[in-house]
Amino acid sequence: MRGLPAVHRLLSEPAVAGFEPALGHDALKTIAQGALERARAALAAGQPFDLERALLAELEAAAAARLQPVVNATGILVHTNLGRAPLARAALDAAAQIGAGYSNLEYDLERGQRGSRYERVSARLAQLFGADDALVVNNCAAAMLLLLDTFARGRECIVARSELVEIGGGFRIPDVLERSGARLVEVGTTNKARLADVERALSPQTSLLLRTHRSNFSLAGFVEDLDSRDLAALARRSGVLLVEDLGSGALLDMTAFGLPRERTVAEALAEGVAVVAISGDKLFGGPQCGMLVGSALALGRMRENPLLRALRVDKTTLAMLDATARLHEGEHTRLQIPLYAMLASSTAELRRRGEAIVARVGQGRLVASRAAVGGGALPGATLESVAIAIDRSDADLFARRLRNARPPTIARIEDGRVLFDLRSVLPDEDGALADAIAASD
Ligand SMILES: *Cc1c(COP(=O)(O)O)cnc(C)c1O
Repeated sequence: MRGLPAVHRLLSEPAVAGFEPALGHDALKTIAQGALERARAALAAGQPFDLERALLAELEAAAAARLQPVVNATGILVHTNLGRAPLARAALDAAAQIGAGYSNLEYDLERGQRGSRYERVSARLAQLFGADDALVVNNCAAAMLLLLDTFARGRECIVARSELVEIGGGFRIPDVLERSGARLVEVGTTNKARLADVERALSPQTSLLLRTHRSNFSLAGFVEDLDSRDLAALARRSGVLLVEDLGSGALLDMTAFGLPRERTVAEALAEGVAVVAISGDKLFGGPQCGMLVGSALALGRMRENPLLRALRVDKTTLAMLDATARLHEGEHTRLQIPLYAMLASSTAELRRRGEAIVARVGQGRLVASRAAVGGGALPGATLESVAIAIDRSDADLFARRLRNARPPTIARIEDGRVLFDLRSVLPDEDGALADAIAASD
C-alpha cells in the first residue's frame, strides 16, 4: 500500500492534470481520492487494482458528462439531442447585455410603473409573421398546453387520425389533450380525413379544431388531408376555433434552399387558422421557446390564463428571441442566423472547407452527402451536402473515440465508413474537427 501515490502526486501527473480545465480542481481531487480509496480497499483484500487506468476512465466519464460544446458532423442541422439551433452572435450578445444587469423587462420607462413582459417582442413577432398578435411561452409543448387549457378544458377537440402524432421526447398529442382536460374526438382514418368527417363530429361540446404538423413522418400513397381554408370556414360557421401546431414553422419559402415547399406560418394564418403554435429553436433558429401567433381575441384569452405564469420565459430568452426576430427582418441579416448560413452554404464552399480539413489530417476523401434540416421540419427531405469519408475497419471504435475527443465530435457511420457531413459543422469549428479526427486516429 505504501506503493500508492499521495493525492497531490496523483494530481500533478500530466494525464490527470489535463482534466483540470474541464472538471475544476475540487472535483478532480474528489475523484482522485475516491480512486485511491478503492485502490486501498482492493489491495487490502489482496485484489489487483490498476489505479491509473481506473482513475483516467473515471475522469473521462466525468468530463464527458458535463454540458459542453460538441462538433455536429451528423448532417442534421436542427438536432434535438445536440441542442437544436445554434444561436446568432447578436442573440448571444443581447442575452449577455440584458442578463448581466437590470432591464426594463416588466417596467414602463415612459410612465415609471410596471409594464408588460411580452409587449415588445409580441409586436415584433406579430409583424414578422403577419399576425394580429403573438405570445411567447417556454416551448411549443407549453404553447399547446396553454392553448388547449384555455379553449378545450372540459370540451371537445377534433383531430384527424392522420395528425395524431408523437413528437420526439414523448410529446403525444392525445396525451397532451387528456392532460389539459380536453376530450379528443378522432376523425377520418390513418391516411384520409375529409371535411365531412369533421362536420359529422361537430357537437355543441366542440370548442377546437386542431391541426398538427406531421413533423417526424410522412404519408405516401393514397392520402387525403384536410384543407385549412375549408376548416376555417367551418369553424367560423360553427363558432369554434381552428388552431394548428406547426412545430418547426417555416417563415419563408424553403425552396430557396433546395428544399421542398413547406406551408409557412403566414400562409397558415392567411388560410384562416386562428392560432398557430411554433418552436423558437427549430426553423426559427432562436432560443428555446414556444410562439403563439394569430388572432388578438384568442391570444387575449390565453394571456388571462393563470397557467401563463407557470410557462413564462426569462429575460435572456426574450432578449435572444427579439434579436433573432430582428435578423429575420432582412434577407441578408437572416444569414447571420447560423441555421440559415448553414442552409445557404453552397456545396462548392463545403467542398473547399472539406479539402482543407482533409489536407490537414492527411486522410479521408470528399463524397457527396445528403443533409437534413431535422427538428421536425420537412420530414424526409434532404439537401445536397459534402462529407469527409474515412474508411475504417474499426468504424464503431473510431466513432467512439471521436465522441470522447476534445471537443467531442459526432459523426455518422454509413456502410462501414465514418462520414463527417460539413453542412452541420459551423465554419469556425473546422480546425477543431480536424484536431478531433487526428486525435482519435
Ligand atoms: C417539435 C414539435 C413540438 C414540440 O416543440 P418544443 O418546442 O420542443 O416543445 C410540438 N409539435 C410539433 C408538431 C413539433 O414538431
